[in-house]
Amino acid sequence: MGIKEKDFEYVANTYARFPVELVRGSGSLVYDVNGKEYIDLNSGIAVNSFGIADKEWQAAVTDQLGKLQHTSNLYFSDPCATLAQMLCKRTGMKKVFFSNSGAEANETAVKVARKYAAEKKGAEYFTVITMKNSFHGRTMAMLAATGQDAMHKDFLPLMPGFAYADPDDPSTLEKCVKENKVAAIMFEIVRGEGGVLPLDKSFIELIDRIAKENDILTICDEVQTGNGRTGELYAYMNYGITPDIVTTAKGLGGGLPIGATLLGEKVKDTLTPGSHGSTFGGNPVCCAGACSIISRIDEKLLDEVKQKSKYVFDAFEGAKGIKSVTGLGLMIGVETEKPVADVISACIEKGVLPIKAKEKLRLLPALNIPFELLKKGIEVIKEAAAK
Ligand SMILES: *Cc1c(COP(=O)(O)O)cnc(C)c1O
Repeated sequence: MGIKEKDFEYVANTYARFPVELVRGSGSLVYDVNGKEYIDLNSGIAVNSFGIADKEWQAAVTDQLGKLQHTSNLYFSDPCATLAQMLCKRTGMKKVFFSNSGAEANETAVKVARKYAAEKKGAEYFTVITMKNSFHGRTMAMLAATGQDAMHKDFLPLMPGFAYADPDDPSTLEKCVKENKVAAIMFEIVRGEGGVLPLDKSFIELIDRIAKENDILTICDEVQTGNGRTGELYAYMNYGITPDIVTTAKGLGGGLPIGATLLGEKVKDTLTPGSHGSTFGGNPVCCAGACSIISRIDEKLLDEVKQKSKYVFDAFEGAKGIKSVTGLGLMIGVETEKPVADVISACIEKGVLPIKAKEKLRLLPALNIPFELLKKGIEVIKEAAAK
């Protein structure tokens, strides 16, 4: 039985996989089972921040792996404490709760918001406003938080306590705040799965203002946009706002599962012993890898991300077969005249791996992708889109 047949037979059928079996890689190059080379333009959906088998990250991970792979949260452990300190120092947030995925980081944020609002304003203040076309994860609560009916329909009833505003119609945010007793407003600076749709600066400022005026918490979901992806350590830093809660995951661990919920001044003491927890959260191996990632996202790297971003936007500007380019930093959506699936197939054929978001190509290369590989990859996409 080949790998594909085995997978079809035994793995739950939840993913429409591309017909490629990857076995190894190095940096932004990845190789399939036949030895064919590909330029990786998605880095495992914004996870492999410094590419594949990065030496520094590998050393941090294997060093910790050789000492102690897991402690449980009943004991103190250095990588977890050090990572929390690094994240707080770099963001001004006050405390961190660690989990294992983006959905869990968001679950934590909503638990914190509900507890904070219940204690401060009353138990009826439990609603969290999220955005149309948002994506916050696959757990039951995050399914409800996700503002996409198509994802809800097979899993009703939804968990109550969410209302949806439409960033294209800012008045809907005011309406949601009037019609509900609101604990928090949760948003992605760039809606990733929703189609790489950045929020307008004016809408981000509106969220910030309405939240302040109504004593509502803000939760910035930086699961995809975080950890250098947009040219700042966290995407909210592009806009001069300070969320009360920031969630992140994907790129934080550089390839190992970790979620983090960063808690600002207002909510730093909301969680108390026993109110929340995770068996694997703060795992020392994952945290050691994440420390290596965060310590290397410095001004120089962020400048490079911005330059590469500009290069990609410029390269697609006015190109044949390209309808629009959206995004921020190295999180870029490309709308093509041809069906996106056809463009991706042609790219795979030519040894380039973009992914999609809704009906767009989505590019999420490693932050340190060499310029030459990025250029080569973009040329292949342009060719595939033009024909
Ligand atoms: C991927 C993603 C999630 C879910 O993360 P998982 O690790 O798959 O649970 C949540 N929010 C955003 C914005 C994401 O991009």
